[in-house]
Amino acid sequence: MSLTPATNPTIRRPAVAGGQFDTSYARLPERFYARLAPTPVRSPRLVKFNSALAHELGLEARQWASEKGAAILSGNSMPEWAQPLAMDYAGHQFGHFSPQLGDGRAILLGEIIAGNGTRYDLHLKGAGRTPFSRRGDGRATLGPMLREYIISEAMHALGIPTTRSLAVVATGEPVLRETVLPGALVARVAASHLRVGTFEYFAAKGDVEAVRILADYAIDRHYPEIKANPTPYLSLLAAVCEAQASLVARWMQVGFIHGVMNTDNMTISGETIDYGPCAFMDEYSPATVFSSIDHQGRYAFGNQPHIAHWNLVCLANTLLPLVDTNHEKSIPLAEEVINQFPGHFARHWRAGMRRKLGLVSEQPEDVRLIEDLLTLMQEHAADYTNTFRQLCAVAEGEATLPGYEAWGARWQTRLGQESHSRSAAAALMRTHNPAVIPRNHQVEAALNAAVRQENFAPLETLLVVLSTPFDLKPEYAQYSAPPAPEERVQQTFCGT
Ligand code: AMP
Ligand code: MG
Repeated sequence: MSLTPATNPTIRRPAVAGGQFDTSYARLPERFYARLAPTPVRSPRLVKFNSALAHELGLEARQWASEKGAAILSGNSMPEWAQPLAMDYAGHQFGHFSPQLGDGRAILLGEIIAGNGTRYDLHLKGAGRTPFSRRGDGRATLGPMLREYIISEAMHALGIPTTRSLAVVATGEPVLRETVLPGALVARVAASHLRVGTFEYFAAKGDVEAVRILADYAIDRHYPEIKANPTPYLSLLAAVCEAQASLVARWMQVGFIHGVMNTDNMTISGETIDYGPCAFMDEYSPATVFSSIDHQGRYAFGNQPHIAHWNLVCLANTLLPLVDTNHEKSIPLAEEVINQFPGHFARHWRAGMRRKLGLVSEQPEDVRLIEDLLTLMQEHAADYTNTFRQLCAVAEGEATLPGYEAWGARWQTRLGQESHSRSAAAALMRTHNPAVIPRNHQVEAALNAAVRQENFAPLETLLVVLSTPFDLKPEYAQYSAPPAPEERVQQTFCGT
């Protein structure tokens, strides 16, 4: 005998098995979002599913990767736990304030509670028009969604906080851009989608009550340890400054250029979000820009710490009324917190760069040593990733780096002051200097094969290689090669 769930009112099965779910954001006041479901798509086809991530989230991979799962991940069917909505947010884009952005092509289904109790948003990007779409079509295309999948998963493997990609679903619908392209969605998993721009949205309206509700929600969700502090909103600002200082320092250590560090693309959680025109630098130059829309170099590689600081000042402004109703009092208090950002960043950056050079102890002259190396690398147009990886072998005396002899002698002297052996230094360096990063030309080649020829083999191999960036197997050695002149990718695009 079998029980049919439909006739048994005591059994409520989720549409897809596994996982615990909640919708805490949907319990916030109505003015925080617009409730609406994704717009269905013609013929959803799962082109990439992240079984490892599904496992971490406590989702049954087999079920979620089934036709039923693809229906949910494309927005064609809603699991019963979902409370779909588009979030409100504002943002400073290239320095100019837009009071109304919001999820114009993304829908938050709700939250997954992983086995360890951690809460994650499940968000469908490319899910159709919303009240915030303005002139956009609400859709996304296959190439950029697969690109987000590749780069966000590579960032995760590099140990850098990031939103992740659970799946990419092709919609079977054409999407008009400069040409007609295949449509797709990415199912994005994030610690949350709270942005600096979410705070700016309510602050710009003078809705102090909403800013307070949002701040309390952010504290509960990301920084519960500061809840009992005497000045929790200053502590929130300090916590976000610390998280972003750490994050941007991590970017700088692997040569990552975000490309659109608008305040709506900066999270409160400290995760990297919004993989649009982002790219990894090949040859070292702090002025490197890839984004086709960044004409002034505002978001150039070397400018990222300054922009993070600038964005955090925007966050600080939104929190002023919560700190004290009297601006004369709140401004100096917030300034004191925000002024610490450069110091926090420098501390994280120095610590990370020391590890890249195999140094554990701290010496005042280390900063000069690091900066002199970077200057030399710029003069030599050296590959950022490979130069550091070569230094691992140099530390052990297994290689030399032509052109760096004088600097190398200083570094060897400095290494000699450490208590660990050269091979221990090299081992440390090999866990902080990736052998492989998602190089633009390789990402482009894998995407072209997938999108133009429906050949997913190069993409699958690339994902395997990028999943262990500190440990490159000899048979994949070509993935560490910088682009040949004709392979060089000059520009990246938002993919909107
Ligand atoms: P982004 O540059 O991706 O951070 O997006 C900036 C704003 O544009 C956000 O409000 C997005 O939701 C919106 N947007 C981007 N692409 C589209 C699209 N195809 N349709 C509607 N809104 C979009
Ligand atoms: Mg964005």
